Amino acid sequence: MPEGPGEGTAGSSAKRTTKKANSHDFVEGDCYAPAPENTDHVSLKRSYDLFIGGKWVRAPKKFETINPATEEVIAEVGEAGPKMVNRAVGAARDAYEKTWSKMPGRERGKYLYRLARLIQERSREFAVVETMDGGKPIRESRDIDLPLVAAHFFYYAGWADKLEYAFPGRKARPLGVAGQIIPWNFPLLMAAWKLAPALAAGNTVVLKPAETTPLTALLLAELIEEADFPPGVVNVITGAGRTGQNLVQHEGIDKVAFTGSTAVGKLIQKTLAGTGKRFTLELGGKAANIIFDDAPINQAVEGIVNGIFFNQGHVCCAGSRLFVQEGLVDTVLRKLKRRMESLVLGDPLDKNTDIGAINSPEQLTRIQGLVDSGREQGAKCWQSSQKIPGKGNWFKPTIFTDCAQSHRIVQEEVFGPVLAVQSFRTPEEALEKANNTPYGLSGGVWTDKGSKIFKITSQLRAGVLWANTFNKFDPSSPFGGYKESGMGREGGLHGLGAYVQLSGR
Ligand code: NDP
Repeated sequence: MPEGPGEGTAGSSAKRTTKKANSHDFVEGDCYAPAPENTDHVSLKRSYDLFIGGKWVRAPKKFETINPATEEVIAEVGEAGPKMVNRAVGAARDAYEKTWSKMPGRERGKYLYRLARLIQERSREFAVVETMDGGKPIRESRDIDLPLVAAHFFYYAGWADKLEYAFPGRKARPLGVAGQIIPWNFPLLMAAWKLAPALAAGNTVVLKPAETTPLTALLLAELIEEADFPPGVVNVITGAGRTGQNLVQHEGIDKVAFTGSTAVGKLIQKTLAGTGKRFTLELGGKAANIIFDDAPINQAVEGIVNGIFFNQGHVCCAGSRLFVQEGLVDTVLRKLKRRMESLVLGDPLDKNTDIGAINSPEQLTRIQGLVDSGREQGAKCWQSSQKIPGKGNWFKPTIFTDCAQSHRIVQEEVFGPVLAVQSFRTPEEALEKANNTPYGLSGGVWTDKGSKIFKITSQLRAGVLWANTFNKFDPSSPFGGYKESGMGREGGLHGLGAYVQLSGR
């Protein structure tokens, strides 16, 4: 497809113009020439049913899914009540017992490879739908989410016939039926993280996407149909939190995999206590991004921007707490503010956009509430000067300085484009502050010295750590947290291990 005239990322090849608003009627004024992604190739239905037992089953109730950038209704989807949850779990059980768990690994692998290739073929369309339904910039869904989705299916397809090598000397058996509940920040990617290892290991699945972003999971169900998976191996049921709750409580599932808030994660853990069901919980985070005075500053500033403003900060591993060594604070803040001013906020379907729409009005309210608390508690707020479009949910890139460790914006997950900045003098002080949080999902360190990287990363209490980079993902690399960030790992061999029972040695 031809690229628009302003193709490129903020601060790179795109030229500044004074062109007026683009065809979507977003902000007028000084902006990049519009480069809207073509949507002609996307054909969505007006109404979607539930995907159960290989068939599209009509739900008695429906709800609308709304584009958070335009407030337009995109489609309506089914709301699965207890009966439909029961039917989906039954279909998954049947498929587990009759076909999938009995099928040789190499055959399961073929289905997964086929699905991975179909995703690649349709990736443009899926990226557009992900952006329309969730609000993230098309540049991210096209260049990050979709390639990673395909890569996850390819990666785990490769393990399907090699389980005996994955766990040498042990016999790996699937667990049974997995109930998988995913959030709205990376809808299709989270579906891939959950489905690919479960299916490769021989489990069958009931997947519940988030209420505000159900569409790409439903399109994925269409691909699963096209790839001719045996009926019931994957079931997709849409609905709200209650649907997820019914799934977790269902006696017919053997494993729960959940990604979402710590509060719901704790509820799930309580529900499952004593049931013998296995579970993995991937919950919130409050990552420290630590910049030492010997760091490559310009790279570090890019890393800070990527760490917190990627996907509007709707990222569990976002670098939402910035720690800068004292002598460098003024320089980093000056460069950071300048870079923040260059970020393009607006139409998520425009290929120049860096900051898309906030996923829902509820999330916008939550972000605003935490930002208000930052001001009330005495931190100093600075926001970039981009204009906010008249319609939709938007939040400007925001930083807080003069933060205290006890401030809510330092302790709580904002899940929005809001960064809390603090300084430190010694590595010990950086570590103490960085570890002073209930979370332990991720962290970053920026320094010229390899020895300092090892010292800091070995003492940071976080499951995922980046050095001189941030937010890098790979299907072969495990991901997960400590403390209130959850338990269990997804990705890599660890992620496969979460879907098998091992015996013998
Ligand atoms: P939730 O934890 O409520 O949602 C995550 C998923 O769980 C959704 O599919 C949701 O359904 C479902 N769900 C909700 N309640 C239950 C339940 N009782 N039992 C089973 N499943 C349930 O997150 P929110 O969407 O409410 O976001 C709130 C906050 O959580 C955010 O501000 C952010 O801080 C954090 N969050 C963290 C994420 C992460 O990756 N760590 C991801 C998303 C949110 P439904 O969408 O229909 O409510």
